[in-house]
Amino acid sequence: MNLSFNIKLAKSYSSNSQIARVLTENWVKINGYCPDCGNFYLREFTNNQPVADFYCEYCRSEYELKSKKSNTVGKKIVDGAYSTMIERINSDNNPNFFFLTYDEVKWEVKNFLIIPKYYFTSEIIEERKPLSMNAKRAGWIGCNINISKIPLNGRIYLVKNSEIIPKDEVIGKWKETEFLKLKKGSSKGWILDIMRCVDSIPNDIFTLKEIYKFEADLKLKYPDNNFIKDKIRQQLQILRDKGLIEFQTRGVYKKIIK
Ligand SMILES: [Zn+2]
Repeated sequence: MNLSFNIKLAKSYSSNSQIARVLTENWVKINGYCPDCGNFYLREFTNNQPVADFYCEYCRSEYELKSKKSNTVGKKIVDGAYSTMIERINSDNNPNFFFLTYDEVKWEVKNFLIIPKYYFTSEIIEERKPLSMNAKRAGWIGCNINISKIPLNGRIYLVKNSEIIPKDEVIGKWKETEFLKLKKGSSKGWILDIMRCVDSIPNDIFTLKEIYKFEADLKLKYPDNNFIKDKIRQQLQILRDKGLIEFQTRGVYKKIIK
């Protein structure tokens, strides 16, 4: 993987946004790979596909690419129409998401990460203010993807702060939470919520008591559930079975950081 863009391609374009699009798309086509199957067969959709930019020729996984000039990933990513995004999430017709940040002086990739599609839930999609009446598309409502709400396990870096992450590690991380693909509705909501709770505890070793502190918040989200503590323990069991945390002794857990 080479982090530099092929700037020769920029020659025939004058608008900055077009140049950025051409350079980032070309970079992904040449240096990216499909983390789902590990093959280097990313192809661009030729016509203006409304939902995705790339697909894997081997396993047919689809990817949308968003990029911005920045050295850091930040909390939010600006995306397209809010209603289309919510529709896509609810219909399961959303692609995986590639996010790229670059240094526009050196024209080099700083961060390149993937968020698997099953991490997208409506709560990470934020509605922006409608465009003003003077705008060309007055009333149009866009959205932000709030990546700070995505569990850490769902932010899989291929390049982090200019460091290339070994491909085996990337694929391993993808496989680790691929079980989420089969989870729907509140069963998916619960596991993602508990992953977020675990992420927000600063230490690697934590107790059940620390996780129970989230009980009141979870009760607000799941008001009909009268067994929040049981539900928490059940999710921790799943995370343990999937190798994401370890049981140390009674009521004590450890995060497995890879
Ligand atoms: Zn693939």
